[in-house]
Formats: sequence, C-alpha cells, structure tokens
Amino acid sequence: MLYLDNSATTSILPEVKDKMLTYLTTEFGNPSGKYYSLAETADAAINEARTHVSKLFNSKEIEVIFTSGATESNNMVLKGVADRYSDKGNHIITSKTEHKAVLDVCEYLETKGYEVTYLDVDQYGRVNPEELSQAITSNTILVSIIWGNNELGSLNDIETLSNICKENNVFFHTDATQVAGKIEIDWDSFPGVSFLSCSAHKMHGPKGVGAVLIRSDQYGKLISLTPLLHGGGQEKNIRSGTYSVHNIVGFGEAARIAEEKLVGNHAHLEELEQILKNTLASKFKDNISFNSDDKNKIPGIVNVRFIGLNNEILLKKLSPIIAASTGSSCSSTKPSYVLQAIGLDIKSVRESVRFSLSPYTSIKELGILDEL
Ligand code: PMP
Repeated sequence: MLYLDNSATTSILPEVKDKMLTYLTTEFGNPSGKYYSLAETADAAINEARTHVSKLFNSKEIEVIFTSGATESNNMVLKGVADRYSDKGNHIITSKTEHKAVLDVCEYLETKGYEVTYLDVDQYGRVNPEELSQAITSNTILVSIIWGNNELGSLNDIETLSNICKENNVFFHTDATQVAGKIEIDWDSFPGVSFLSCSAHKMHGPKGVGAVLIRSDQYGKLISLTPLLHGGGQEKNIRSGTYSVHNIVGFGEAARIAEEKLVGNHAHLEELEQILKNTLASKFKDNISFNSDDKNKIPGIVNVRFIGLNNEILLKKLSPIIAASTGSSCSSTKPSYVLQAIGLDIKSVRESVRFSLSPYTSIKELGILDEL
C-alpha cells in the first residue's frame, strides 16, 4: 500500500526513532532537575533540539517555545494575545481557509466578546493583501493567516501580509504547520511575523510535540502573551509542564534532517508531484480537474476532483493500494469547508481527493498508480 496522506501525518524516520529511544529508556531524567547528570543530560538534549529547530527557521534559539503540537501553538497565540492585549482592542482577523485549530479558537473567542473577521480567499485559497489592509481597524490586535494550506497546498504571501500588519502595529501569527521543513523559511526576512506555529509529526518527527516561534526584540525580550498553561514555569514561564524529552529530541532530529535535506527534498517532491499529476491526467483525461494551483505552492500536495465519483467510495475502493484523504483529518466528517470557500459546489467537494507526498516516497513506488 502506498501512503499518500503525508499532510495528515508522516512516518517517523529511523534516525529520529533511535534518538528518541535513548530518552525513553536510559536517559529518563527531568531536564528541570539539578545537580545530577541524568537531569543535565536531558537538559542538554532539550538545548540541542532547540538549536536544530531554530536552525530550520534561522531564528534565535530563545525564540523557540516547545508545545504539544500546532493545535496548542495556535491556541496559545490566539487566546494568549487576545487576553494580554484586550485593553488595546478586541478585533482579530483570520481567513476562511484556516485550519480548525485557528477557526474554532476564533469562534470560542467570539463567545468571549471578541470580534473576528473571516477574510474571503481566491480560487486557490489565498488571502488578498488589499482585503487585509481594508479589514484592519484601530481595534485590531491580531491577524492569523495560514502560510501554506493543508488541503490545497497554496502559499499565502506572508511577506506582504505580515508587513501590512507591522505597518499597522498589529501582531501577525502564521500557522506554518504544513510548510515547515518543506520550504525554506528565513525568520529574519519576515520581521512582520510575530508568531509562527509548527508541528513535528508533519516532518517525519513524533506526534505530540511542536513549537511556537515568538519574535524577540533587540534586547532578547519575547513578545509578551498570557500563557495557556500555568505551572512549573518551563519555557520561560510561557508554557509550563514537564518536558516531553523524547518527543522534543525527536522533533529536533526531524528538524535537523529536514533542514539538511531541504533543497533536495523540495526538488524531489516537485518531481513526484509532476509524475502524480501526469499519471492521473493520462489515466482519467477529462474526468478529472485539479483544484490545486500548479505554482506558488507547497510541493507534494495535490487536490484533485474526480468528476462523477464520490470521494469516500473512491478512497475506500483504493485503500488496499493507496491511502489518501478527502481533506483535513481534523474535520474529515464534513465536506471540506476549504474547498467550499474557494467556490466549489457541494457535489464537486464530494468528488475531491487530496494526495500528499513525502520526500521519502520514491518514483518507483508511484508506479502503483498504473494499477488504477
Ligand atoms: N495546522 C495545520 C495547518 C495542520 O495541518 C495541522 C495538522 N492537521 C494542525 C494545525 C494541527 O497540528 P497538530 O496535529 O500538531 O496539533
């Protein structure tokens, strides 16, 4: 069976697993402990992982705050900024094609008296910077726009969007879960980005660990926000809780490998994507259409409409040879709101399938598509 649902999650690389095992067995110390080597070794492992994650983004090490994953990272930023800056304003701007871990937090914040603007998107799910400019008011405290869409792969123009926010003195958060480790991100080139969320299990690391990058000023002070979790004061009092050392170590190793192989992996994913699209096009001819753009996107995510075929029936039938999905696994029970937001009618949405490749998929493996 060929696994083509890498936007949902990825397999753990053997190197990542091996590194994690040490911290699940012999090196089980609590990094916050003191005076003995088990604690010191665990603390050194956390620091090493932080170095690897910061290198992936070319950020400062102090700007990396470990969390349990992107859902927590998004919650932390949206709720934390909303609470901390409620005296400045109560308006948040986001888009209709965000992940549920942003949209549902916004809906929750609306019940607490915040006002949320949900920006429309174009036919590929991208936000128009002009519309963002127009939506900002003197009450706006935060803008949250996804970097690369998890169902379509389209990239937003984060540089322009974040600069608009910087000019207006508004914090800008981006959910970079699907792009981290797949496209080059140079944190210094995006001074308007205040916060960035990411997750290890989308880059061949473990589930249950991720990070928020928080912009620091020239004195090394991070933008202040109300913590989601209070307690032992880990992660500079921003995210309390005993460190999940093995997970953080696994994240660090996955980030190290993703950074080392970024250029080659990107090119390979582009090649695989082209093969996948060509094979589908030659097999299904006029009976398919591509919902994804073919440029300015995350390589390896292809959303295809199989005209006249129900996606759930198709995927079940294909499941012995190919694993793919109808869209986000975090909202898989309902027809995709992302595809509806780009203008597809319900029938077309129910005919659409997302294939998502891994840099570790081989060209040979894709040959299985000939059996379709
Ligand atoms: N944001 C995006 C864009 C995602 O694709 C996902 C994973 N489906 C998440 C957030 C949630 O990440 P996690 O599983 O680490 O909580």
